[in-house]
Amino acid sequence: MRIKINWYITTFITIFMWYGCYSQPSAKKNNMDTVKNNPVFSKTDTATVALPEDEWKKVLTPEQYYVARQKGTERPGTSKYEYSKEIGTYYCAACGNGLFKSDTKFESGCGWPSFYEPISKAAIIYTPDNTHGMQRTEVQCGRCKAHLGHVFEDGPPPTGLRYCINGVILDFEKAKDVEKKYKANPPASGGE
Ligand SMILES: [Zn+2]
Repeated sequence: MRIKINWYITTFITIFMWYGCYSQPSAKKNNMDTVKNNPVFSKTDTATVALPEDEWKKVLTPEQYYVARQKGTERPGTSKYEYSKEIGTYYCAACGNGLFKSDTKFESGCGWPSFYEPISKAAIIYTPDNTHGMQRTEVQCGRCKAHLGHVFEDGPPPTGLRYCINGVILDFEKAKDVEKKYKANPPASGGE
């Protein structure tokens, strides 16, 4: 009799464990469903993007919306990209437009990721900005007009320009061929 009860308990526990395993993937799926879905984000489509403001609000994070659509500025020194030396391309986080290559990035010490040259002329829109008692040039994404930051004429050669960009509106993609090369032939320590 005792053995039979034990058998029932074991069976019961086993069924419960199975249920636990099967229910896990659906819990993960629910989490995935809450990830924001941005229908205009594309790294290959170059057609200009014009979304109503309430649509942008749905697809961008509050920080991205504040910078990109309300011309806000992220707190200096808060971007993970400010000191990043990874090799790859920086895209517009709102629409996927290619903006800067990592080899034009430099440490300006201004508190934001800085570049001396955009990836192409069409990548950026330049607009005079006379707000806050300053004469500056605003830079916006050439595809979706997201506010990115400003450009100043105190950058390094060859352009002498400093594109001071809010990191929250950048989306970095590591160069794939570099990654492969690095794995196949890692550089000797100390050498750069
Ligand atoms: Zn954009």
